[in-house]
Amino acid sequence: MSAENTSTAEDHERAHQVLVVGGGNGGLSVAGRLRRAGVADVAVVEPSQTHYYKPLFSHIAGGTAKASEAVRAQADVFPEGVRWVADAVTAVDAENKRVHLASGDTVRYEQLIISPGIRNDWDATSGLEEAMRSPHGASNYEFDLARKASALLRRVRSGTVVFVQAPGPASCAGAAQKPMYQACAYWQAMNVLHDIHVVLLVPTPTIFGIPEIDAELQRVIDEYDIDVRTGVRLQEVDADQRTISFGPMGGEREQLRYDLLMVEPVQKAPEWIRASGLADAEGFVAVNERTLRSTVDPDIWALGDAAGTMNSKSGGALRKQTKALAENVRAVLEGREPTAIYDGYGVCPFTVSRSTAVFAEFDDRLRMMPTLWSSSYRESRMNWIIDRRIFPQVYWRMILQGRA
Ligand SMILES: Cc1cc2nc3c(=O)[nH]c(=O)nc-3n(C[C@H](O)[C@H](O)[C@H](O)COP(=O)(O)OP(=O)(O)OC[C@H]3O[C@@H](n4cnc5c(N)ncnc54)[C@H](O)[C@@H]3O)c2cc1C
Repeated sequence: MSAENTSTAEDHERAHQVLVVGGGNGGLSVAGRLRRAGVADVAVVEPSQTHYYKPLFSHIAGGTAKASEAVRAQADVFPEGVRWVADAVTAVDAENKRVHLASGDTVRYEQLIISPGIRNDWDATSGLEEAMRSPHGASNYEFDLARKASALLRRVRSGTVVFVQAPGPASCAGAAQKPMYQACAYWQAMNVLHDIHVVLLVPTPTIFGIPEIDAELQRVIDEYDIDVRTGVRLQEVDADQRTISFGPMGGEREQLRYDLLMVEPVQKAPEWIRASGLADAEGFVAVNERTLRSTVDPDIWALGDAAGTMNSKSGGALRKQTKALAENVRAVLEGREPTAIYDGYGVCPFTVSRSTAVFAEFDDRLRMMPTLWSSSYRESRMNWIIDRRIFPQVYWRMILQGRA
């Protein structure tokens, strides 16, 4: 075990040079980068004993990964030399440079980095929670529901299967589509796809929003004969009657009966960010979107899904955010100006079959930004190998240690 658990009942006011909130993708990799760059005292507050690699949730739901591949013990993935405070932050007291923890303890910091991720808001849609508990509802947005989805999708031989992509800020929003394409490929191979009405609800005017990606996905959509409804959101679910109502915001609603409902839930920022006076209008940490420094307090920084940046919230974005943020925090600790810039990069890998993928790589102004190779947006076997085989290894071995 490389992490040191520093939580003790008698030690109420510990202090760290750099304190990170959240030991997920962003928190651990930025902590690892800072340690590797020579910052001696880095600690991470993280309540969970388990670490998940969320991109694999889509593969679990779509039937191309085992659940066990997405999970590791938190203690086994903490970066070398980084201290672990096994607790949860409940508030930040920026004036006194201190965070409050669920246990009642407080921790002081010199520099604070906030990376607690985003929350699934199952209550935001009437009837959705009940539908997820029923034998006809699942999602790839939570580990247990992704396992349930895998079994349910595999069983379908006819009927109506509805996939829903959430509106508003979301973690890798397009991931709602990944298990859908994988399931369609499976049903095609089983020769039952023609008996299944596959419906996809998306909030955007087109399937993705960038012409090249739209064209690539549309080709696959046509091949699987998916009934795509654009510009709509899920309004209500009746789990007993197995019906949904959906439509544009404030517009006319349509009813649809389903046999299986796969939903990406509406998502929201953790509430304590707003209560601590650090939020933007949507509740995410208000930061300069290039330096990732808080616009409220210069000793506070944020990255990942909880940061109020314009990019697509994704692990891919974090590869660049952690680099810029670690450089900037180190500069401030050494009395220099923070000049490193995050360029707004984000990515959404769409697995469009059980062996091929399309990489949507783009910036926070929806401009294409390929980093793998210029045609990474085209369906290919190599993209799938990278998404399914190479990225998980890079994540566990390098990204979490701050080495990539
Ligand atoms: C289904 C799904 C599929 C995805 N697919 C892809 C993909 O294919 N490619 C891609 O690039 N990205 C993908 N993503 C997005 C990617 O997983 C996230 O962008 C990334 O995990 C965000 O990192 P983070 O550190 O901001 O949050 P997280 O990784 O969610 O980590 C947040 C951590 O903070 C902890 N925490 C929460 N509250 C507190 C608190 N109060 N105090 C202390 N700690 C706290 C949590 O326990 C958690 O460990 C996907 C996401 C999902 C949900």
